[in-house]
Amino acid sequence: MPLLMSHPSSLLHETGLGHPERVDRMHAITAELERRDWLGFEKREAPAVSVEQLLAVHSREHVDAVRETSARGGAFDLDTPTSTGSWEAALHAAGGACALVEALMDGGERVGFSLLRPPGHHAERARAMGFCLFANVAVAARHALSSLGASRVFVLDWDVHHGNGTNAIFHESREVLFASIHQYPFYPGTGPLSDVGAGDGEGFSINLPVPAGAGEDLFCGLVEHVVLPAARAFDPDIVMVSAGFDAHRDDPVGGCALSTSAFAELTRQVLSLGKPVGCVLEGGYDLDALAGSVAETMEVLASDGAGPGSHPRGPLVEAAAEAVGRFWDLS
Ligand SMILES: [Zn+2]
Repeated sequence: MPLLMSHPSSLLHETGLGHPERVDRMHAITAELERRDWLGFEKREAPAVSVEQLLAVHSREHVDAVRETSARGGAFDLDTPTSTGSWEAALHAAGGACALVEALMDGGERVGFSLLRPPGHHAERARAMGFCLFANVAVAARHALSSLGASRVFVLDWDVHHGNGTNAIFHESREVLFASIHQYPFYPGTGPLSDVGAGDGEGFSINLPVPAGAGEDLFCGLVEHVVLPAARAFDPDIVMVSAGFDAHRDDPVGGCALSTSAFAELTRQVLSLGKPVGCVLEGGYDLDALAGSVAETMEVLASDGAGPGSHPRGPLVEAAAEAVGRFWDLS
């Protein structure tokens, strides 16, 4: 049975009037899933992450700063405010991702979704930013590698923003293959095609910038012709998706043009790897688009139905294939 990790503390992280990353996102998704009878997912309460799990990725100063800033309801920057409930919410957001990989690495479950906030992919080792406090996916990937017997974790980040935190945390690692498709130039400014990782991790960061207006053909073409062949060659034990939905055409923050059904296709593509898949919620700020896209993604996760379609190799896909093909056999 597919797993859905959630926790009421996701409603306690308050970001203030007008902030797009808001409590209502959870209410919208919950209402949609309720309407669809939870799509056959088994709901489990996300545990709090342990401080040890956090310290495998973050500095102690950073963990302390999140606790102390939350306790006084302070802000890390204009984008990244906290409230007194943020500490607990952040612990469960990271903990849900860790519990999801535990269930997947156990061999019992094949797919799941960690549906919590705040999001995580912008948080760096020692820095909260971009609505993110802890790097939920990175913490869970590190947990899978250090404690659950995984040797290789593949992370696909399809949020419209570059996953700078995950990228930086594993920049020199061969244990994580990180691939991000993101609008560029755009916040946070990182993630050019030329950023391929460094040192031992050279080739293990795949950054695929796309222009504003990019739609399903480009996103899915990059996944089909660049990301999936590299991921197959990498042969991960587990796949994690930084599942943001702000590349949706209705999103007020992102400038891309995915339809709700494009997220279903991206999910079919990821499933075609034949590995356990854990999705972790990142962005997505139009409530209807977010709720519908999460539900479409979960519906595909829960199905054992059709594989993905085929998508064009345009010039941007060719350029990306040439760059990534220096490190991976994409044939
Ligand atoms: Zn985003």
